[in-house]
Amino acid sequence: MLGAMRFLIEPMEEEQEFICPECESKEAGFGEMLSMDGPTSNQANEDPWSSVLQQTECSSCNSIIPNHIAYRWENLNIEKAKEQWNKLYKKNNQLRKFE
Ligand SMILES: [Zn+2]
Repeated sequence: MLGAMRFLIEPMEEEQEFICPECESKEAGFGEMLSMDGPTSNQANEDPWSSVLQQTECSSCNSIIPNHIAYRWENLNIEKAKEQWNKLYKKNNQLRKFE
């Protein structure tokens, strides 16, 4: 009966739950933020954070996690999410000030 069920992946939908790549807490804290103006154009230092438009604070370890990692957009799995986090974002972990 159920053999033909198919699940379509919609990458733009945000249905994943928050998982912190730092401590694996599933409790998102305060602080989802949106930049109104899009990425800044300071490509000189190629800060990966400069293209982060949405971020959420982990309520457990207080890390600021880019939403595409915390919610694993585009089918990012948790291992890849952690890898990106450690490689690109962790060292500059900070609450960005959007103007
Ligand atoms: Zn955390």
